[in-house]
Amino acid sequence: GAPGVAEVRVAMMADKVERRIIAVGSGKGGVGKSTLATNLAVALARQGHKVGLVDADIYGPSQARLLGTEGKRPVAHDQKLVPVASPWGVPVLSMAHLSDPGQAIAWRGPMASGALTQLLEGHWEGAEILVVDLPPGTGDIQLTMMQKFKPAGAVIVSTPQDLALMDAMRAAELFEKGGTPVIGVVENMAGYACPHCGEVSEPFGTGGAEAAARTMGMPFLGRIPLDIAIRRESDAGTPPAAGEGPQAEAFADLARKISD
Ligand code: ADP
Repeated sequence: GAPGVAEVRVAMMADKVERRIIAVGSGKGGVGKSTLATNLAVALARQGHKVGLVDADIYGPSQARLLGTEGKRPVAHDQKLVPVASPWGVPVLSMAHLSDPGQAIAWRGPMASGALTQLLEGHWEGAEILVVDLPPGTGDIQLTMMQKFKPAGAVIVSTPQDLALMDAMRAAELFEKGGTPVIGVVENMAGYACPHCGEVSEPFGTGGAEAAARTMGMPFLGRIPLDIAIRRESDAGTPPAAGEGPQAEAFADLARKISD
C-alpha cells in the first residue's frame, strides 16, 4: 500500500545529505594552502565524492583562478548564493566571484565574518564534503568558522621551513582548542626536482613537518614536492589533481586519507 507519513519522513531524512566541512588552514601565507584545498577537492570529486569548495580567504581569494572560474558570477536563489560550477566537478563560492578582479577588500572582522556566512550558507544541497580554504593564520574568520560551522576537521599545510612550521603548529593548536580536530599535517614544497637535470634539492629542508606533527601527536598525511608544473597548471586554472602523473597521484593519496 501507500507509505505512511512516518515512512515518508524517514525516507526524506535518509535523502538528506550529511555534510562534512573540512577546513584547510596554515600558519602563514604562501605555503600552498589554497593550492592544496583546490587539489584535495578535485581529487575527492574524482574519487566519486560530492564536493564543494568555499573560499574563506575573504581578503585574498584565489579559488576562482585556481579552478578556472574567473569572471563567473553566482546568482542568488531564495536569498542564498548558488555555487558557481567549475569544469572539475567541484562547485565553488569565493569572494573573487563577487568582487572585481584585483579589487582590494578592506573589511573589518565582523563584515568578513558575514561574508564567510554567506558563502557557507549558499545552496550546498547535495555536497557531502565542503572543503574550506581558510585565510592564513588565526583570526576572526577561523573563529567564526569553528564556532558557527563546526568543521569535522582541519588539515594544516606547512612548508618544511622552521618558521612556517612553528606558525603551522600554533594554528593547529588553535583548531584543537576551538574544538576542531586536526585531521593531519601536509608538508608542501618538500624537495625540488630540477626540470633540467632532474637532481632533487631541498631548498627548505624536508621531514620537518612530519617530525613536528609527531611531536604534537597529530597524524602526518604526506608531502607534495615543489614542482614547477604545479605552479604552472594552478595559474592556468587546470588543477594538477585533474591530470595524470605523480603529483595527481600524491593529491589522490591525500584525498583518500582525508575521506577515510
Ligand atoms: P597560500 O594559499 O598558502 O597563500 P598558494 O596556494 O596561493 O599559497 O600558493 C602560493 C604560490 O605557490 C602559488 O603561486 C602556487 O601556485 C605555488 N605553489 C603552491 N604549492 C606548490 C608546489 N607544491 N609546487 C610549486 N608551486 C607551488
